[in-house]
This record gives sequence, C-alpha cells and structure tokens, in this order.
Amino acid sequence: QAKRDNRFAVAYSQGMDEQYLRRLQIVQALPSAVREHRLQLHFQPKLSCQSGQVIGVEALLRWRDEQLGVVRPDEFIPLAEQTGEIQRITRWVCAAALDQLQLWHEQGFDLTLAINLSALDLQWPELVEFVTTATHQRGLSPASITLEVTESAVMVDPEQAILRLQELREAGFKIAIDDYGTGYASLAQLKRLPADELKLDRSFIQNIATTPEDETIVRSTILLAHDLNLTTVAEGIEEDAAWQVLKRLGCDLVQGYYFSRPLAAAQFERWWRDYHGE
Ligand code: C2E
Ligand code: CA
Ligand code: CA
Ligand code: CA
Repeated sequence: QAKRDNRFAVAYSQGMDEQYLRRLQIVQALPSAVREHRLQLHFQPKLSCQSGQVIGVEALLRWRDEQLGVVRPDEFIPLAEQTGEIQRITRWVCAAALDQLQLWHEQGFDLTLAINLSALDLQWPELVEFVTTATHQRGLSPASITLEVTESAVMVDPEQAILRLQELREAGFKIAIDDYGTGYASLAQLKRLPADELKLDRSFIQNIATTPEDETIVRSTILLAHDLNLTTVAEGIEEDAAWQVLKRLGCDLVQGYYFSRPLAAAQFERWWRDYHGE
C-alpha cells in the first residue's frame, strides 16, 4: 500500500492531473459496486416519430458512489473495458433490464427494451447463449429486445462483430447501430452489417432545426437507411422544432430530453401514465 501511495505522489509531481487519480479510484471501486448491486438502471422512452406513441425504453446505467459522487457511464464503461469488468457489468445490466421488462409485461406495459453492448461484449464467446437464456428464462421474446452497439465498437474487429451480430439476429434479437455518423464506417461496411436499426447520433440532431447542413445529412441518411431496410432512430431531441423536422424527413423513432430524461423504473411508470393521460 505504501508503495502505491508513493506512486500516486510521483504521478502527481510529474504533472499527472486529478483526472488520473479519479480514474484509478473508479477502477478500484467498480468491482465491489457491481458485486453489491450498487449500479442502477434508468430507462428512457423510445417513441414513434410520427404518432408520438411510446414503443419502448432504452436501459442506461447509473452509478452513484459515496466517495466518487455521480460517475457517468461515459466515464466508467471505457475503464471497465480495459480492466475486463465489463463482462460482469453486461451480465448484470441484462439481468436487471430483463427483470424489469418481465415485470412491465406482467403489468400490461407493452414495451420493447434496448440494451447497450460494448465493443468487448462482441468478443465474448458466450454472449449469445447468455442473453438468449436470460430472455427465455423470463418468458420474454427476443423480438422485443434490441441490442445496441456503436459504430466504433463494430469497427474494432468488424469480422468478429459481424459474426456475433449475425448470431444474435438468428436468435431473434434486433440489432441497432448506435451513434451512427460519428465513427468511420463506410457505406459499404454499413451495407454488410447485420442490423435492423440505425441510431443517428445526437450531434446531428440537436441543432437540426437551425442548421441546414445537419438537416441535409440526416435526410440523406434516413433515405439510405430505408433503402437498406433499416429503422431510423433520432436521439437527443431537446425541442419541438427538431421533432417537427424529423417528422417531415420520415424518421421512424425518436428519443430525447424533450420527451423524457432517462428515469428510474417507478418514475418512468408515472411519466408513462401522465404522458398517456391516465
Ligand atoms: P448512448 O447509448 O448513445 O446513450 C444516449 C446518451 O444520451 C445517454 O447518456 C442519455 O442519457 C443521453 N441523452 C438522451 N437524450 C438526450 C438529449 O435529449 N440530450 C442530451 N444531451 N443527451 C441525451 P448516458 O446515460 O450518460 O450514457 C452515455 C453512454 O454510456 C451511452 O451512450 C452508452 O454508450 C454508454 N452506456 C450507458 N449504459 C450502458 C450500458 O448498460 N452498457 C454499456 N455497454 N454502455 C452503456
Ligand atoms: Ca444506446
Ligand atoms: Ca447513441
Ligand atoms: Ca453515445
């Protein structure tokens, strides 16, 4: 331990910043947070762009640590990938999200569920068996579950990723390509991806109502996606004006703070009843 503290001191004196220390603390605190179920899931609604009807939810990880405060998934997921902790996290996320979906189906909420996978999950040989078993154990249909992978996660090892995504689709799951437009997937690669859904990154959506270039990019991406038989999802809608543009462009699904932030399950149920005027 003394040796370690010494290393911290050296790192500091050499000009390493507080961020470095925080990352180390995250790496140390994460395994017990996962084991002790101190991670949480929030759910953000996915809606039909044209009708505004809620069709499903995306599960998003939350972690509030006593010492570290709020740790955003953007911050701890990449670290969990480096340490190998991601596999345990993915297992927990799948189990917890599917438990919730089962409960909602029993309560009459007709919802689909989207789960985020990381690049490393696609290299885990038992992934398909794990999610398939977890889904069937709860009496759920894989058709009501979408697995979201980022464009850049696929590009880490495209051949391997394509194989894994194919297996998942054969098992009946839907595949979404997340953050589309921020990575380097070429159109030729997009055509080869076994996917059902294309999620346009929010950087193209946020200012779509005031930036003609963004509207142009989104319009042509929607056309392309539809030609490839992909459902289009726009994420990061924060105002009505953006929604109206996307309706006009024929986008299929929408998500964003304008409709709802990601919410804990009980809050989501309240939001849902409110939204549907019940
Ligand atoms: P993502 O999958 O692209 O998720 C969308 C992110 O955008 C979420 O951030 C969500 O809270 C945020 N968001 C939604 N609507 C709006 C909006 O209108 N405006 C703005 N500014 N943001 C909006 P979050 O929850 O912090 O998650 C960040 C990323 O962390 C996710 O990006 C995903 O890549 C990763 N992540 C989250 N949960 C998981 C998980 O369970 N497993 C894995 N592997 N990754 C996860
Ligand atoms: Ca996502
Ligand atoms: Ca995204
Ligand atoms: Ca993202």
